[in-house]
Amino acid sequence: MKAVAVFPGTRETKIIERESPRLSEPDQVALRILDIGICGTDKEICSFAYGTPPPGDDYLIIGHESVAEVAEVGSAVSRLRVGDLVVPSVRRPCPHPECRACRSGHQDYCYTGDFSERGIKEAHGYMAEYVVDYERYMNPVPPDLRDIAVLAEPLTIAEKAIAQVSWMMRQRPPWNGPGTPGEERGKGLSALVLGIGPVGLLGAMTLVTAGFTTYVYSRERPPSPRIDLVAAIGATYVSSQTETFAGLAAQIGNIDLIYEAVGQSHFAMEALRVLGTNGIFVLTGVPGLQAFIEADPARLMRDMVLKNQVLLGTVNAGPEAFASALRNLGAFRRRWPAAVQTLIAGRYPPEQASELILGRPAGIKSVITFDGSPGSGA
Ligand SMILES: [Zn+2]
Ligand SMILES: [Zn+2]
Repeated sequence: MKAVAVFPGTRETKIIERESPRLSEPDQVALRILDIGICGTDKEICSFAYGTPPPGDDYLIIGHESVAEVAEVGSAVSRLRVGDLVVPSVRRPCPHPECRACRSGHQDYCYTGDFSERGIKEAHGYMAEYVVDYERYMNPVPPDLRDIAVLAEPLTIAEKAIAQVSWMMRQRPPWNGPGTPGEERGKGLSALVLGIGPVGLLGAMTLVTAGFTTYVYSRERPPSPRIDLVAAIGATYVSSQTETFAGLAAQIGNIDLIYEAVGQSHFAMEALRVLGTNGIFVLTGVPGLQAFIEADPARLMRDMVLKNQVLLGTVNAGPEAFASALRNLGAFRRRWPAAVQTLIAGRYPPEQASELILGRPAGIKSVITFDGSPGSGA
C-alpha cells in the first residue's frame, strides 16, 4: 500500500510502498483511509522541527486529521462494523502506572509526556491507504458527515476548550445569566478569537453556536475567503493592520472570552491586556521558541487578580470532545451550509502531500484523499 512518510535522517518527505498492516489483536479494526487534513503540525514535522518516528523505524508516516471506513473488525470488536465511518483520536496513553490521566483514559491530560501521538510522535499516522488501530480510539461518524468529518479532529481543540470554559462559567455567577439555556450559554457575552486559520475559524463557529457575540482578529486584510467566512457565520472580523487592541476593546466592550489560535507570544500578551473583567483567556497555539519580548508582569498580575481573570492552556482532546465535534459539525452545516463547504479548500492525491504541506496554504483546509478520484468533491 501507499503511504506518505517523513525521513528525518535524510530530510525527505516521500511516498513509500509497504505491506498493508494486519489485525494482530481481537480488539483491533482495520481502516481504509478516506481523507486526511493537513495542518501546521504537519508542516513542522516535514520541516524537521518536530515529530519522531516510532522506535526502530527511520521514518514516520504522517497524518493525524483523518476520516476512515472500517474495513475489517477483530473478534472482540463490539461497537463497530465493516463499512462504519470513524474518526480516530490521535494521542495514545503513556505506559506509567502512576499517570492517573492516562490510566483513566484521559491521555490528553498525560502527566509524564511519554504518550505517543499517531502521525506526530513515536507512532505512524494515517496518511496511508490502510491502518490498523484499536476500537477504543475510534469515534463513530454519522454517514451524512462523510465529506466534512475530516474537520472533526481540528475542531476538537475548540470543543475541549469550550467544555472547560462552560464548566467555569457555571461556577462564575456573573457568566451564568438567569434562565440562559445550556446550548446558548454564551448569550450576552462577547468572545474574541485571535487568528483566522482553521483552528481559529472552527473556534469562531463553535463560539457563535454557543451564543457568544464573536469577533475574529488577525493580520489578514480583505479580500479573503477566510474573512468572508467570518462574516457568513455572523461574527465580526477586525484586521490588526487597521485596528489596535485598544481600539478593538473599545469596540467590543468587556471582552469575556479570548480564544487564542495563533501561537505568537507577543500577540497573545497584547491581547491579555485587553481581557475584560471576569474574563477567561484560552491559549491553544504553540509558539516556536522566540526572542524575549517585553512584558509588564506587574500589570498583568494586578489585572488578573483585581478582575478575577483566568488563563487556561489546552492541548489535544478526549472522546467527549470528539463526540461534540461531530455533533457540532452537523449543526454548523445545517446553519451555514455554504460556509462549511468553503472550509475544505480542495482534495488532492497523496503525491501532492509534501508540496501542499510545505507550501503556503491556498485555501482554508487542504485535504489529501485516498478515496477515488482526486480533485473531486472540493
Ligand atoms: Zn492538525
Ligand atoms: Zn500519561
